[in-house]
Amino acid sequence: MTGSFTTAEDIILRGAELCRLSQKDIRRIITLKTSGSTGANKRLYFSDKDLGHTVDFFAEGMRFMCGSGDAVLICMGNTAPDGIATLLSEGLERIGARPYIYGGIADYKDAAARCREIRPHTIVGLPSQLRRLALEAPDIQPDNVLLSADYVALSVIETLSRIWHTKVFTHYGLTESGLGFAVQCPFLEGQHIRHDELSVEIIDPDTGEVLPVGQWGEIVFTTLRREAMPLYRYRTGDISRLIGGVCSCGHDKPRLDRVLGRITELKKPVPIYALDELLFACDDILDFTASLSSKTLTVSVVGDIKKAEELLIKAYPQYDIKVLAGSGFITHGTKKRALEITE
Ligand SMILES: [Zn+2]
Repeated sequence: MTGSFTTAEDIILRGAELCRLSQKDIRRIITLKTSGSTGANKRLYFSDKDLGHTVDFFAEGMRFMCGSGDAVLICMGNTAPDGIATLLSEGLERIGARPYIYGGIADYKDAAARCREIRPHTIVGLPSQLRRLALEAPDIQPDNVLLSADYVALSVIETLSRIWHTKVFTHYGLTESGLGFAVQCPFLEGQHIRHDELSVEIIDPDTGEVLPVGQWGEIVFTTLRREAMPLYRYRTGDISRLIGGVCSCGHDKPRLDRVLGRITELKKPVPIYALDELLFACDDILDFTASLSSKTLTVSVVGDIKKAEELLIKAYPQYDIKVLAGSGFITHGTKKRALEITE
């Protein structure tokens, strides 16, 4: 079956039309900057009930990791009312945990000091940032880490497990899905989907054909009870697959496997994900950004420049490799890491 879909462009062009409630019943509008040439933004509308369902999902999902009295440090979002960090806090409070919102990490010494002060049982944050925090502050050692909001490289999971002796969970979510989408249970056999909220399909991104369980393709979802802005067969632009069978925890609905990233990024000659796997496997490289022109791959590195250069020359002999010393990278809120294409 193929048929019609809703796309990011539909939300940009007809966002207000897709909103079913009057303005007075909208509790929050989340505006996402898009990289398109039009400069138009994506606006997502949520009612009280919609955000309440997100809090329900966060409470249920965090129960996989923590419970009453556990301190949880949230290293993402900011303190905006009804932002991801505050909704996650609400969910954590509901299960009796003690949430602390730190926000995205820009100053790693400061974040480490905060961790030593509150001794978090669980830390929630972006993969590249928590990996760097672990390398700079190996003593923190939370019981659990929850990675969200960007591609999770296997090299990042390996580093966090090894340095912090921690269990690494992943969450996949996007604003369009009401922030939450799927989260791993302690058996780590795939991410449990919010089946009460979302109906999920995997499609062939080129033909739109629905693919069977087990095949990789684009994640598409339909909201089942969204009040403000219901979405029908929304194309996420992300690649993953459904896992069938029963999870070791007893959950018997299809789960979402690891997310391989955004299609736009995967189509680039050197996706940032490949660079993450390569460079984040080396503990002497703390962070990096990358750009590609026709023949030159330029990488700014925080850490051992020489090692980064060696790894890159070996992996990408077809490009001229330029490695620069990067300074601390600024946190860009919800902006995902990407290879910059320059001409
Ligand atoms: Zn499970």
